[in-house]
Amino acid sequence: MNNRLDPLPPLDLPVEEMRRLGYALVERLIERHLALPALPIQHPPTRMELERKLREPLPERGIPIDDVLAQLDREVWPNIIPTNHPRFFAFVSTPNNFVSVLADALSAAMTAYAGSWLEAAGPAMIELVVIDWLRQLVGMPEGTGGHCVTGGSAANLTALAVARYAKLQDRVEGATLYCSDQTHGSIRRAFRILGFQFEQMRVMPTNARFEIDVAALAQTIARDRAEGKRPFCVVATAGTTNTGSIDPLNALADVCVRENLWLHVDGSYGAAIALTAHGLELLSGIDRVDSLTLDPHKWWFQPYELGCVLVRQPHLLRETFQYSAEYLQDTQRAGDEINFGDEGLQLTRTFRALKLWMSLKVFGVETFRRAVQYGVDLAEQAEKTLRASSCWEILSGAQLGIIVFRYIRPGLSATELNHLNHALAAESLKDGFAFVTSTTLKGQTALRFCTINPRTTFDDIQQTIARLKACGNRL
Ligand SMILES: *Cc1c(COP(=O)(O)O)cnc(C)c1O
Repeated sequence: MNNRLDPLPPLDLPVEEMRRLGYALVERLIERHLALPALPIQHPPTRMELERKLREPLPERGIPIDDVLAQLDREVWPNIIPTNHPRFFAFVSTPNNFVSVLADALSAAMTAYAGSWLEAAGPAMIELVVIDWLRQLVGMPEGTGGHCVTGGSAANLTALAVARYAKLQDRVEGATLYCSDQTHGSIRRAFRILGFQFEQMRVMPTNARFEIDVAALAQTIARDRAEGKRPFCVVATAGTTNTGSIDPLNALADVCVRENLWLHVDGSYGAAIALTAHGLELLSGIDRVDSLTLDPHKWWFQPYELGCVLVRQPHLLRETFQYSAEYLQDTQRAGDEINFGDEGLQLTRTFRALKLWMSLKVFGVETFRRAVQYGVDLAEQAEKTLRASSCWEILSGAQLGIIVFRYIRPGLSATELNHLNHALAAESLKDGFAFVTSTTLKGQTALRFCTINPRTTFDDIQQTIARLKACGNRL
């Protein structure tokens, strides 16, 4: 029985309109892809300027979609610095691929509820396969499980929640966690969210290569034990965000086995190095860790949002996160069918694994391997170019596609050099050619390139360095 006055249900579009919009959208996506390399990097407008353009009353009545798209083209898309731009050298870029972009659209349309086997058995199976492919690629033991999350922050939070459950039975009093001064801030945030005090985190110094000082770690653990504390977890980083350094995983695994501690490795940035010829050597010891964070929306070329957490004993995920509810009773499965909604923070979850699965199948791992190696090589070429000019000092040589360097000028004090390099990063953004940001290593402010985009050319690198040099000379 249809007693509606309209021919269509609310929120439906006529089929011809759906088709027109869909095709037009695909054209837009392709135009964007083609236009990207020539696009200027835009300095962001102020909040005030955007308030004037975008603050408007709640739209009680609809307007034509073409007007809405035109508004986006005018006021919104020009005001992003696209992180897949070939000259986005700042932070960590997101050089996504078109197959995965389409996969995201497909996933939204199919509306798979990837929280339960009952509602989405096919997607759950794909997620199991993708997690196992990642496990194989990084070299974790068979039987390791895990799942997809929104990103590295969520994966780190998930892993630390499991560590808290497994080693502390969720009792946080007096417990201590160990990491380094190069550990990502998301670990500190996760630690606080999980109910620990900041003093319960022991931040270890790093050596000249920005790797955790294992001797200092062992001493600190011993001191904490002597004082009646409860050491429970070490967080190592495989590819720090600042420099790409990798903590000595085997030495840390030795400490953790001896001391009965959970070893979590944050591989958000760097675990993709496993795809290169020397990567598995660099990650030696990764087969011994309890949990690992991966972030495919970084160096695995996926669009936002996709992170992964791998756990050597996957039953711990369920024990940490599962609850029962009468309204979910029909979803319970016998045997090894998995409800990913029981394994982590989210009950309702999108089919995130699809994009990585589709792109791995379409391009093959060999293409991913070439793409990661290319980023490694680019940073090495950048280092050569920088070393050829006396105005640059290398603070951390090319490592996992990251190089940290600074502009130097004889006669300037340490503070003046810091100011100069900070100003140089800000000035370079005004130039509009490339996006370069600064960081601070052991008190020294420096510029940092992260060169993981396969569409970046060596010419992009050389021109950016030349412009930075000219800018530095002017300042
Ligand atoms: C980027 C990053 C994170 C955070 O990941 P998000 O996806 O941004 O949440 C955590 N750790 C390291 C080492 C990172 O580089």
